[in-house]
Amino acid sequence: MTVTPHFTGQPVVAYLCAGSNIGDKPANCRKGIDALVNTAKTRLAALSRFYRTEPVDYADQDWFVNVVAKVVTTETPLALLERLKTIEVETGRQAGGIRFGPRVLDLDILFYGDRVIDTAELVVPHPRMHKRHFVLKPFCDIDPAIVHPTLQRTVQALLGDLDTTGQAVSVFSCDF
Ligand code: ADP
Ligand code: MG
Repeated sequence: MTVTPHFTGQPVVAYLCAGSNIGDKPANCRKGIDALVNTAKTRLAALSRFYRTEPVDYADQDWFVNVVAKVVTTETPLALLERLKTIEVETGRQAGGIRFGPRVLDLDILFYGDRVIDTAELVVPHPRMHKRHFVLKPFCDIDPAIVHPTLQRTVQALLGDLDTTGQAVSVFSCDF
C-alpha cells in the first residue's frame, strides 16, 4: 500500500455506504464520496457499482441510489463521522426530517478496520448493515470475503442469508 506523506496516523481501511433519494441521486452520492476522498487524510481504494434500491424502514418515499466505497483513512472514527455529517449538509441535506425518510445524501460508516465501537454518536459495524440488501449487494462488488467483526461471517455469507423480500436492488447505469 502506498502511503502519502500527508498521512500522519496508521492508515485504516474503512467501508462507507452512500445513499440518496432526492435530486440527482447518483451525482449526490458521487459528490459526497469525492468530497471525502479529496482530503489529505482519506483516499478512495474501491467503489462498487451504483444500485437502484427499494426504500426500507419507511416505504412511502422515492427509491434510492446506493453505492459502497472502500477508503483508506487516517481519520479517527469520530473525526470520520463528523466529516461525513459535514459533507451531508454541504451536499444539501436538511437537518431533521423523518427517521429513515427522504434525504439528499446519507453517508454511513459500515466498517472501520475491525474496530467495534458502541457509543451514543457512533456504532460500528453499522448496526443494520447485515440486514440491508442495499448495503450487502454493493459491498460484495468490492470485497465479498471481508469478515464482519462481531457476526464472524463474511459479507458474502450475510448476503446469502438475507431475506430480500421487499428489498429490491438492481444495478443502476450511470457515467460515474
Ligand atoms: P440513518 O443513517 O440511520 O438512516 P442518520 O443518517 O440520520 O440516520 O443518522 C443518525 C445518527 O446515527 C447520526 O447522527 C450518527 O451520529 C449516528 N450513527 C451511529 N452509528 C453510525 C454509523 N456507523 N454511521 C453513520 N452514522 C452513525
Ligand atoms: Mg446516516
